[in-house]
Amino acid sequence: MARLVNVSYRVAIPKKGMSAGGLAVGLAESLKASRGLWFGWSGHTVAEPSGKAEVSEIGGVTYATVDLATADHGPFYAGFSNATLWPLLHYRLGLMEFDRAAFAAYRRVNAALAEALMPLLRPDDLVWVHDYQLMTLGAELRQRGFAGRIGFFLHVPFPPRDIWVSLPQGAVLLEALLECDLVGFQTETDRGNFFHGAARMLGLQTEGNALIVKGRRVATGAFPIGIDAGGFARTAVRAATGKPVRQMRESLGDRALIIGADRLDYSKGLINRFRGFDHLLRSNPAQRRRVTYLQVAARSRVEVAQYRTLRRELDQLAGRINGEHADFDWMPLRYMTRDVPRTTLAGFFRIARVGLVTPMRDGMNLVAKEFVAAQDPADPGVLILSQFAGAAMELREALLVNPHDAEEIAEALGVALAMPLDERKARWEAMMARVREVTAASWGKAFLERLTAA
Ligand code: ADP
Repeated sequence: MARLVNVSYRVAIPKKGMSAGGLAVGLAESLKASRGLWFGWSGHTVAEPSGKAEVSEIGGVTYATVDLATADHGPFYAGFSNATLWPLLHYRLGLMEFDRAAFAAYRRVNAALAEALMPLLRPDDLVWVHDYQLMTLGAELRQRGFAGRIGFFLHVPFPPRDIWVSLPQGAVLLEALLECDLVGFQTETDRGNFFHGAARMLGLQTEGNALIVKGRRVATGAFPIGIDAGGFARTAVRAATGKPVRQMRESLGDRALIIGADRLDYSKGLINRFRGFDHLLRSNPAQRRRVTYLQVAARSRVEVAQYRTLRRELDQLAGRINGEHADFDWMPLRYMTRDVPRTTLAGFFRIARVGLVTPMRDGMNLVAKEFVAAQDPADPGVLILSQFAGAAMELREALLVNPHDAEEIAEALGVALAMPLDERKARWEAMMARVREVTAASWGKAFLERLTAA
């Protein structure tokens, strides 16, 4: 068995009392079994990094992290990664900023990471690079002579060619990605956009799902990511009797709970979601005073201007909605801009009548799957899901909406709140079967099997 070398911007070094995130869960088995290595940024910036990784071993897995140059980190992360690539990859050209200096910093950071990783690599390692921050890292490893297998997985969407070409270095990034042996995506849509875009922009021949680059085959594939559904369901059951969830239930009285939980990010469609709720209260007076909508929006990327603007807009909109509709004993919208412990969130999902997940565009959206997993089989809630979330490819029995249309969101809320138990059960059972089928672990395995064969 080849050793797995996992490379991502952030490294999830296991800590006591901390539950592991999706990536860590998905790769745990393969990392352990192959006595693997997880490499990435240490979380620290310094004026002049040594370029030497700090290495530790926990439970048979080696963790290696490096510091990055302070001067490069801002333009790399807040700049090219999150003010250029993130909006572009989410089809939001209007929000994309561009700056050559930021791109140069992005390349330097990818090169510095590759340089620090090289001495730790063995020729037969299986290298798996993750996500949009590290698109040129594989090519940097090749330049330094690494000839083993490299896979790349994009956790976010990939747009059609006509959007991608807006990026002045679009072709350069495609060429860099094609130094890998396998390029993976969340959905067939994303894979197809990349595959046809690259073939056309670079004039490449294709063979099945592979692109032929100077006689070399580069495989592409769709590998939808999942969650540990059984584990999340157990967490939700346990949390439902815990204090925060009991308090929440009491505070609701007999009102139905609508829940949303997202990072505070413009890709999540929060503005239109609030407008949709506002519209429900206006257009459906029977629902007034009978619902409470809780939105937890964890603050994210506060160093990027667009995120600060979004936060101001949401603050204003939430204030206006409550100002207009609230009563002295009823607050229709509860809006929190912070993290909620995962367990508590699972419990909130379980007691909610409606899960409202309406991103404008999303690679997968794990909240949708978590909401399904958390439901009580005897009395499941209804999932309202954007047709532009990767999860919509699998969760066909959700109420699928176009997130651009706030009135459609309002209509779906009306339907969800009135849905009879039989229909809720039928829809939930079909979705739960699928959420159980594709887990974080099966995702990791599927990608690595394909990479091994590449
Ligand atoms: P993204 O990766 O773009 O943030 P996902 O929906 O795929 O979106 O994953 C988000 C993860 O973060 C989920 O596991 C979800 O439970 C968690 N999460 C989202 N909002 C919050 C919040 N306010 N507090 C705590 N966890 C959150």
